[in-house]
Amino acid sequence: MKIILLGPPGAGKGTQAKRLAETLKVPHIASGDLFREHQEKNTELGRLAKSYMERGVLVPNEVTIRMILGRIESPDCSRGFVLDGFPRSIEQAQALEQALSKKKDKIDKVLFINVPEEELTRRLGGRLICRICQTPYHRESSPPKRSMLCDRCGGELYQRADDTPEAVKKRIQVYAAETAPLVEYYKREGILEEINGKGPIEQVGKALVGAVRD
Ligand code: ADP
Ligand code: ADP
Ligand code: ZN
Repeated sequence: MKIILLGPPGAGKGTQAKRLAETLKVPHIASGDLFREHQEKNTELGRLAKSYMERGVLVPNEVTIRMILGRIESPDCSRGFVLDGFPRSIEQAQALEQALSKKKDKIDKVLFINVPEEELTRRLGGRLICRICQTPYHRESSPPKRSMLCDRCGGELYQRADDTPEAVKKRIQVYAAETAPLVEYYKREGILEEINGKGPIEQVGKALVGAVRD
């Protein structure tokens, strides 16, 4: 199963991708998580990505595409994967399609998690993530069991530098301009499934598993 989770920032892609990947027993590949890992390790790619991420704009396609295509070539991806945060532009989608078609392969499904904008702002304003495994939490709607510690790995939780009101606003604009056209793109390919992302985490999770299985 090769799946893409598509949706605006704050839609719940990270939350749901982790659960779905565990259910399907395939890796969860999140472009934002990979960039943040590079930043933690202070690699050249991490330093380059930082300047874009802080502003809430897209990291250039060339380096992003190289990073993701490299990752999905690993043996653990041969049975499938859940992509989260990639592709984010038509150019990225085309690069992915080309790379897969060289191996006579393709994306099976694109799950579009739709959430209205005012809810996105609320979610991102209260988001905390784990410094180690990057699991997302929310101060009100999805708090950790122990204050500021990750339920999964015990790691410390923090607020992302790009979850400030200014950067969130910019990311939502960038989504509308560069990523939203992918909805039509994948609709035309006949592989898009739209999921209402407004309900509780469990409910959205069930809808996603349902969409994958039918
Ligand atoms: P994305 O990866 O799409 O940016 P996240 O999975 O990081 O989104 O979720 C954004 C924020 O919203 C997090 O704080 C998360 O805990 C919270 N969240 C995710 N799904 C829901 C939901 N169904 N209802 C309420 N809050 C949610
Ligand atoms: P969110 O949870 O808000 O959707 P992500 O963690 O997916 O955010 O991404 C954070 C930032 O990382 C983006 O604002 C962008 O700068 C960069 N980024 C992530 N994925 C991509 C991508 N596919 N193409 C370009 N930039 C990306
Ligand atoms: Zn953790």
